[in-house]
Amino acid sequence: MLSRVLRKFNIFQFQTDLLEWYGQNKRDLPWRQDQNPYKVWVSEIMLQQTQVDTVIPYFYRFMEQFPTVYDLASADEQEVLKAWEGLGYYSRARNLQNAVREVVSEYNGKVPDQPKQLGELKGIGPYTRGAILSIAFNQPEPAVDGNVMRVLSRIFNIHDDISVGRTRKSFEEIVRAIISEEDPSSFNQALMELGALICTPKSPMCMFCPVMEHCEAYEEGIQEQLPVKAKKAKQKKKPYKSVIIKNEKGEVIIEKRPETGLLANLWQFPMIPGQIKTNEEAEQWLNKEYGLDITVDKKVGDVRHVFSHIIWEIDVYEAMTYQSVKEIKDQRLRMVSREEIDKFPFPVSHQKMMQYI
Ligand code: SF4
Repeated sequence: MLSRVLRKFNIFQFQTDLLEWYGQNKRDLPWRQDQNPYKVWVSEIMLQQTQVDTVIPYFYRFMEQFPTVYDLASADEQEVLKAWEGLGYYSRARNLQNAVREVVSEYNGKVPDQPKQLGELKGIGPYTRGAILSIAFNQPEPAVDGNVMRVLSRIFNIHDDISVGRTRKSFEEIVRAIISEEDPSSFNQALMELGALICTPKSPMCMFCPVMEHCEAYEEGIQEQLPVKAKKAKQKKKPYKSVIIKNEKGEVIIEKRPETGLLANLWQFPMIPGQIKTNEEAEQWLNKEYGLDITVDKKVGDVRHVFSHIIWEIDVYEAMTYQSVKEIKDQRLRMVSREEIDKFPFPVSHQKMMQYI
């Protein structure tokens, strides 16, 4: 494929057009202020599946709280999850902290600049590895994500399905062939920036595109048909009941989620499987599961949360308990005041339930 797509392609002119445009139009983003590898790494992890505008305030706060690898490595995991609260995909935060701990213990606190060592760190896949190596260390390594694949599919009129793993590999080969050896950092960022600002998924702004002259899809008028991407299976709906259990003092019971799996180690209000229908059944279930002695009252609201693979549909109920803190034996549970709750990391779905306390 490489020789076919590059046959008539003017690499030098493409680099010049792209880099010139990037130099004049790049956004002033906080992680672009220097090439500190730790900052580049944190920003790249935060930017996975997340919009730039959402990431910016999180990035500032995270850097203030954990300015160096040492600060992040020595932090309590709950603190890190709290700083990540609301960003989603929490395994990113846990993996980042584990990998940073490895950087401190194995590499003297220096982010490795060797592809192999960097790629072996937790949570660093081929894209993030390429992004760190190119952006922070100025190495001519490809950093190919969905954005870049969209742009390149259009420029080179490639119809391979970008949701298939090996397609990314062929795009990496193309980037290796066309990347600027003088400024790989700007080159990769320019491709990403082009995808974010001009060559957008819907209605790309070809008229303003600095590389329009190099673009085969534009020439053929098929830019909106690319990239080819197989449709994802629809998310399965999962019904739950969640209970806001209060005592006479207005304190609330919260639960720590398991150490592994979805939203690991985050906190929530106890959740009951949706097939349990009546309040009485819910009370029995909570008694069996947690040893709780409660009275479930009325439904107060509902919350819907869409994950990449499932949708939670949660009916929220109020409940009362007359048990004291000492009587609540289950290790997963805590009885906390409204003020104390704010210290615990909650997923967005359960943050939305705070209004019902
Ligand atoms: S010309 Fe249009 S389709 Fe081609 S790279 Fe530019 S914005 Fe994308």
